[in-house]
Amino acid sequence: MIEIFIEDLNQRFTFNEGNILKDILKNLNGKFKDVVGGKLNGEIIDIHTPINQSGNLKFLKKEDKDSLEILRHSLAHIMAQALKEIYGNENVHLGIGPTTEHGFYYDVEIEGKRLTDEDLPQIEEKMKEIIKKGYQIERFELPREEAIKFFENKKEIYKIDIIKHNIPEGEPIILYKQGDFVDLCRGPHLPSTDKAGAFKLISVSGAYWRGKETNPMLQRIYGVAFWSEKELKDYLNMLEEAKKRDHRKIGKDLELFLIDEEIGGGLAIWLPKGAIIRKEIEDAWKKEHLKRGYQLVYTPHVGKEQLWQTSGHLSFYQENMYPRMQIEEEGYYVKPMNCPFHVEIYKSKQRSYKEFPIRLAELGTVYRYERSGALHGLMRVRGFTQDDAHIICREDQVEDEIREVLNLALNTLKSYGFDEFEVYLSTKPEKYVGDDKMWEVAENSLRKAIESTGLDYKIDEGGGAFYGPKIDVKIKDAIGRLWQCSTIQFDFNLPERFDMYYIGEDNQKHRPYMIHRAIFGSIERFIGVLLEHYAGFLPVWLSPVQVKIIPIADKHLEYAKTVKQNLLENDIRVELDDRNERMNKKIRDAELQKIPFMLVIGDKEAETGTVAVREKGKQGSQTLSIDEFVSKIKEIISNKLAL
Ligand SMILES: [Zn+2]
Ligand SMILES: [Zn+2]
Repeated sequence: MIEIFIEDLNQRFTFNEGNILKDILKNLNGKFKDVVGGKLNGEIIDIHTPINQSGNLKFLKKEDKDSLEILRHSLAHIMAQALKEIYGNENVHLGIGPTTEHGFYYDVEIEGKRLTDEDLPQIEEKMKEIIKKGYQIERFELPREEAIKFFENKKEIYKIDIIKHNIPEGEPIILYKQGDFVDLCRGPHLPSTDKAGAFKLISVSGAYWRGKETNPMLQRIYGVAFWSEKELKDYLNMLEEAKKRDHRKIGKDLELFLIDEEIGGGLAIWLPKGAIIRKEIEDAWKKEHLKRGYQLVYTPHVGKEQLWQTSGHLSFYQENMYPRMQIEEEGYYVKPMNCPFHVEIYKSKQRSYKEFPIRLAELGTVYRYERSGALHGLMRVRGFTQDDAHIICREDQVEDEIREVLNLALNTLKSYGFDEFEVYLSTKPEKYVGDDKMWEVAENSLRKAIESTGLDYKIDEGGGAFYGPKIDVKIKDAIGRLWQCSTIQFDFNLPERFDMYYIGEDNQKHRPYMIHRAIFGSIERFIGVLLEHYAGFLPVWLSPVQVKIIPIADKHLEYAKTVKQNLLENDIRVELDDRNERMNKKIRDAELQKIPFMLVIGDKEAETGTVAVREKGKQGSQTLSIDEFVSKIKEIISNKLAL
């Protein structure tokens, strides 16, 4: 017998093992008609999943975000069924069909058919038919050999591959059935196909089986799905909007950065205009950190094998690292993180409790392996610059330090125009290192810091890394997308592994607390987010060109040059458009370059020593003296305003 506490009923029940949610609901006399699944001890189950463990059960309804997992998973099956009906059972071989952040995809092989976007409406139509038919979705199990035979008969070679290589002997082989379509699957699924919500197929692309280039190339069909038509429509609009703001296009149009196969995937080169943006961000970052008592350091890009051995990276992080290189008799690795170097700085001399807190900060470029298929502009790269820092302190300083870091993170992000945050606290997992008291001190300080900000936060209970709890901060951009930025992460592992200590007031050795933290996470990615958030119109202080001077005719060139000189002397980034083009063409080009201010100069301006100011987002122009304009733009720059 097992004991289940059902949260929705606030009641404890005893059941036989193997009972399913469907039966439980049946006994509730239809009181919970809108339940599409459940969450058992944090795991999503459907109404067919046998319940074999005691614990907590929460019903999942459409308004619960987790229920989307069930919807999207079922739509992947419905799509697979549609493909089989359209292209013939024997021609369609199914790979995997997982859910994604906003929908699902299925990797399939279709003999004799190369899908294009034009095929998607037909597949959608067929899916809608299947949904309308309202097939009951059933779950069943087969013995291993029988399951293999079953899929052999259906020529489902990839399913057999999954059974043989991914499902250990002795584990049940679970299948789901709707109509005459059967798929190997662990679920969860909807009760029936007509419970499916709104969806759209959005693209088709190639994908190697198991991501390996030596394997056959399958076709991956992507869909997005939500419970309601409205949510789907909102999401599709957002996608449209996101396409217009794609930082890769903006980066190209404005000549900000270069990512090229010839250089290597995921390796960004900063062009002069992009380099200015990056410099401004880095300068502001350094200034703020120095003000807050951080010490800036620089560390190398490679380090000896032994260092990464001691840090543990070679045992738990190696798959993200580039291969070993041999220099003379020694092995070296390109750094995936800056931490071990900062630890070595700490250890370079004996430390006393009086020196604490020590805050070491670095804009450190690290290199991590990402599959080429996962690379995406500046958002997902192989080399990126962490705005990294490590704080080493005593127990009595932990609380203040964490509060300070969170304050720094939120203030910094706000200064870039972000004002909506999602904050997550991840706590001690089942397997962990370090002593319980330190975990408690750390978790309490994180919690108190968040609570002092007044922000809502979510707790990922047990979701912390094995070496310490953490806070994550996500920002919401102009079109509602969330981006992970700041992380404040305790580490009880490195101080042990590197035997870090300090001499306390008692003259004894003590283990310090160590905190990793980053505010942007990655400078590259953060600039990508900024470009999309502002659709390329960056705040004036970040604009590579802040002012474009547009003389109407050649005779105004002389005066235009003195205006330019004046602005340059005031540290304003300015370009003079002295091309032999019409004024309107020059204005249009400056707009396309997303330059916030244009100064048009004609007879009147040259005679009176003024400029006609055209400001982004404003109609017409305003005549100002040069000094008036300079003080206006300087104020906008120093307040970090966006137009
Ligand atoms: Zn499935
Ligand atoms: Zn670190």
